[in-house]
Amino acid sequence: MECDPTRVCERLVGLGDVEVLGIDDEPGEPLRVHIRRRMSRPGCEVCGGLLWSNGEREVELVDLPAFGRPARLVWHKRRWRCPLQGCPAGAVTEQDREIAPPREKLTARAGRWATRQAGRARPVDEVAAELGCSWHRVNASVRRWGSALLDADTERISDVEALGLDETLMGRRGRFKDKAWSTSIVDVGCGQLLDIVPGRTAKAPTEWLLGRPRGWLDEIRWAVLDLSGPYQAAFDTAIPDARQVADPFHVVRLGNDALDEVRRRVQQQTLGHRGHKHDPLYRARKLLVSASENITDSGRVRLRGLLDAGDPYGEVRDAWHAKETLRGIYDIDNAEVGAATVNQLASDLQDPGLPPELNRLGRTIWRWRAQIANWHTARVTNAATEAANNLIKRVKRAAFGFTNFANYRIRALLYAGKPNWALLDTLTPP
Ligand SMILES: [Zn+2]
Repeated sequence: MECDPTRVCERLVGLGDVEVLGIDDEPGEPLRVHIRRRMSRPGCEVCGGLLWSNGEREVELVDLPAFGRPARLVWHKRRWRCPLQGCPAGAVTEQDREIAPPREKLTARAGRWATRQAGRARPVDEVAAELGCSWHRVNASVRRWGSALLDADTERISDVEALGLDETLMGRRGRFKDKAWSTSIVDVGCGQLLDIVPGRTAKAPTEWLLGRPRGWLDEIRWAVLDLSGPYQAAFDTAIPDARQVADPFHVVRLGNDALDEVRRRVQQQTLGHRGHKHDPLYRARKLLVSASENITDSGRVRLRGLLDAGDPYGEVRDAWHAKETLRGIYDIDNAEVGAATVNQLASDLQDPGLPPELNRLGRTIWRWRAQIANWHTARVTNAATEAANNLIKRVKRAAFGFTNFANYRIRALLYAGKPNWALLDTLTPP
């Protein structure tokens, strides 16, 4: 057991060869621990001669809470100057990245700890309250340590066989609360969120992909997308040899959207007002979009009755069959039959006798027929991307939405991007 009072203090502070000069213990204030590094006089880095002391500068750093209260480390930093006439070294202040990297407001251990908290989706203001400092200080530190960790973690982005792109709402910003979008880049095979880029146009994902090594891009066999022109353009430009696959979730949603549109229009045309809780089509809305195999026999009878009452020309019925046929594509296990069925459905739906909403659905399926049919060979979905997006939503809730893309990217990747946390203790941020 250590009994020497000076050594006891030094052990508690625990920063290596550091002397504890004293503490300030003002009621209601953080505990302030004054320290100075023990070191011999350094040599000049330029001319090699001995430096002369040039006084001290006190730098106050936010440290980890001590014994249940916020703490500050007041580092008495020595200043030196080179006595040699004309030596360009001039005056220097001592540095120790293990205490705190230059210009940081948090000690290295507090910065690493705050970054780990962000990795658990803990809100920055909560972490700041625990440290007894401002949101901005914690955020700046998380940004710095977080980017250093993601940069150092070169293994995080390994070979990818199926790559997915998906849009995510990042938050709203500006006077008119414009939606700010981002694009998640996901290794669909293993569900790894690789990166997040700003916007939902082709530009950022294309640049991200073209920034990868050629050999890495060549490994990608499948490029998974929602039915979006910009992502198709990004894949066409950056990985033209990868086969594009339409995400089944988005394809099925197209069918449900068309059905909803038909139902609302027929409702308006037959009754002259928007759906009301007593209207048959309004009452049928949930049964209509349910998967048919999940509807009970009594539900089926009810649905038939509601459609008899509210759908005089059978348009909602047609839309329901279109939706179910579209879903049925994913039950086909033969790639050729799958492709033929997609083509058949696309042309059937363009029959002028069908509602215009279904004609449009037919045109959309026709445009994406290759990507939809490719699923039967690839058997990949953006489900992993959706899962990553759900994780990101947790981070967004913790932060009440983001207005700054860089903050959002770092925090989402720390939480949902599975970085190698063991690296955090070994790295020194720039
Ligand atoms: Zn010198």
